[in-house]
Amino acid sequence: MQRSTLRVRVAEPLRFLLPVRHRHGDVRVPVDGVSTVRHLVESLGVPRTEIGEFLVNGRPVGPEARPGTDDVVDVRPVGRPQRIAEPRFVLDVHLGALARRMRLLGLDVAYRNDAEDAELVAQAVAERRVVLTQDRGLLRRRALTAGAYVHGARADDQLRDVLSRFDPPLTPWSRCPACNGGVEPVAKQEVEHLLEPGTRRSYSTFARCRTCGRVYWRGAHADRLEAVVAAATPGAGLTTSAPNGAARDATACPHRPTGTAR
Ligand SMILES: [Zn+2]
Repeated sequence: MQRSTLRVRVAEPLRFLLPVRHRHGDVRVPVDGVSTVRHLVESLGVPRTEIGEFLVNGRPVGPEARPGTDDVVDVRPVGRPQRIAEPRFVLDVHLGALARRMRLLGLDVAYRNDAEDAELVAQAVAERRVVLTQDRGLLRRRALTAGAYVHGARADDQLRDVLSRFDPPLTPWSRCPACNGGVEPVAKQEVEHLLEPGTRRSYSTFARCRTCGRVYWRGAHADRLEAVVAAATPGAGLTTSAPNGAARDATACPHRPTGTAR
């Protein structure tokens, strides 16, 4: 006897999450009468964080709906920009370059290169952060409350994807790329003793991280960093001043005076 099944149609932008054999058409799934539509779709490989809407036979349903034999389930991706309570993030261990770029734009980004998956989820829940990752297994963890799959192999592409997904407010140069602390202007005489002679001679405007003490000035990499900000914030009306009034020149270069900035 043929088993009863239902048909799942996953929208094209989400199909890369399916096993290869399912990516080119509808998927037939056995009906057991108890599984929710969310469970059925998650078990195909699509994390709930990526799903915007379910339809059964053309009608929108909640994630707990239980579809039956011969039903047709449509799965639509989460809309962009996606609303989140607060633009706070925690990134998984493989996204260090993205973490620095996001912090350059002033986003609140927790990152450690040795965090376990369970720690990331616990931190996300405790601090109400959105987990960003390219690990689907991490996004399928039951305890996870907010997360997103990050598209792109290069950090610049990943940044574009994150900005397109959440459209968070940006305050470039207001945050320390190294530790996520706030950066504020500092008088040259306060940090002079930390600087190498060449830096002391060449620059007059400095900023310091309130958390880790790193000192920043506009240096050799400023143009590249400006390019990251400009690429991430096309068009704009964007303010490039930090909320505390620090000008971008004050914090442009995450160069640390040799060994002694703390
Ligand atoms: Zn810092």
